[in-house]
Amino acid sequence: MYKPIIGLEIHVELKTKSKLFCACSNNPDETKPNVNICPICMGHPGVLPVINKEAVKKIVKAALALNCEIAKSSEFYRKLYFYPDLPKGYQISQDISPLAKNGFIKIDGKKIRVHEIHLEEDVAKLVHPQGEDYSLVDFNRAGIPLIELVTEPDINSALVARRFAQELQLILRYLNVSDANMEKGQMRVEVNVSLSSEHSKKLGTKVEIKNLNSFRAVNEATNFEIARQKKLLEENKKVVPETMGWDDEKRLTFSQREKGGGAFSTEDFHAPEPNLFPLRLTDTYIEKIRSEIPELPSQREERFKKEYHLSGKEIGLYVIQKDLGEYFEKVVSELNNWVKAKKLKEKITGNEFKKLVKLASNYISTDLQGLLRGASARGEDFLITPENFAEFISMIYLGEISSKIAKTLLKEMFGAGGDPSQIIEEKGLRQITDETELEKIAKDVIKKNPKPVGDYQKGKEEALQFLVGQIMAQTKGKANPEKINKILRKLLS
Ligand code: ADP
Ligand code: ZN
Ligand code: MG
Repeated sequence: MYKPIIGLEIHVELKTKSKLFCACSNNPDETKPNVNICPICMGHPGVLPVINKEAVKKIVKAALALNCEIAKSSEFYRKLYFYPDLPKGYQISQDISPLAKNGFIKIDGKKIRVHEIHLEEDVAKLVHPQGEDYSLVDFNRAGIPLIELVTEPDINSALVARRFAQELQLILRYLNVSDANMEKGQMRVEVNVSLSSEHSKKLGTKVEIKNLNSFRAVNEATNFEIARQKKLLEENKKVVPETMGWDDEKRLTFSQREKGGGAFSTEDFHAPEPNLFPLRLTDTYIEKIRSEIPELPSQREERFKKEYHLSGKEIGLYVIQKDLGEYFEKVVSELNNWVKAKKLKEKITGNEFKKLVKLASNYISTDLQGLLRGASARGEDFLITPENFAEFISMIYLGEISSKIAKTLLKEMFGAGGDPSQIIEEKGLRQITDETELEKIAKDVIKKNPKPVGDYQKGKEEALQFLVGQIMAQTKGKANPEKINKILRKLLS
């Protein structure tokens, strides 16, 4: 039996105003090529790089959130190689003197250790026009601050590899250090995979799969590679140490180059960067950044579990969708205000309030969530204030509107952003609770439906439900169902 051993190397672009060593804009949405460039990021002779403070702050923040030790002094090196995506002929990196070490992320309670996190600059983007015999280079990306995170080989399944990458993305988003959008190439994952015999401590030969740009690809490429290596080993063949790519269409890994490379290998060719001082950080600086770390996803999950009685699915949604989780909490606080203002404190305590919160969460995680998805696809804004949403929930709670009206009302509120009681008036959605009015409608329905009336009087209970349905249809769902029931029974007895 073989056990998969997996380690990850993940590159993430930091969200900063400017590039790592120059004042060029770091704009991930720039579509025009080669506009955010200058002599510094183009590597013209005689220029001097200057370190971007915001980038340093953000990598320190990320490293602290990932439980790393921060090096108080770290250095920059030139990683030398020749490739068209590298204007200077070298990449400035801290990979042999990393800023942070020895961290971890917990997945399902198990620590996946982070070996190091370091700062480096991104390279240019190569564009290969289809059917042409040339490639184009867009240097906008060259010099954008990147962090590289390297894990220990602590992962044993494709699923955990994927979960690690997802958790990292979420943490970086909570910290606002990166959008880490994989589709946009802001987060790129490299998976290292080897197999070893179940009981042996010796690690097998590893293969690296480069540039995975979706979580699905991380999962599939890892599983594909595990299966490929297993087959080789079972046939007594050797796994060759190599760098592979992932073909997202054919769903398979393919060899790019063998590792080691022989005499012409430029891997690990480094020279000190003479134009940058070592990066020296004081304790005060580090502690100040530590104090700015917000609640992290795993902490929010724990807190929500303790504070609210919600399903795991709902909590998961509020952790993954940070903004929605914040919205939910604002609605809860508005519901609290509503209970206080209406002097309902005696009636709505403890379990009753939990019911109210659950009702709110129900609507937020289903109906509202659905409307939000549609709106963001259309690029629309979300206009319901937490206060108005809380009022909407209180109306359902008090039985002032039926669930049918609630859905209509929510759609109206979503589009217009208005307050629910006003929309109810304007759109004529108010529930009919006036007994004389309801009696009039009931009498009319009784007159028009002699057969069901007869059936009911002969003892057929279902016939009453039919009549209730008729009244609901006539009032477009606005009649108060409890009251109609009572009135019908009275009129037919
Ligand atoms: P290299 O020198 O080839 O870059 P490193 O020791 O720097 O190798 O490790 C690179 C990545 O590969 C790390 O994420 C590490 O956890 C992982 N790794 C190391 N050895 C193995 C192995 N035998 N199987 C799977 N992953 C491994
Ligand atoms: Zn520049
Ligand atoms: Mg390495």
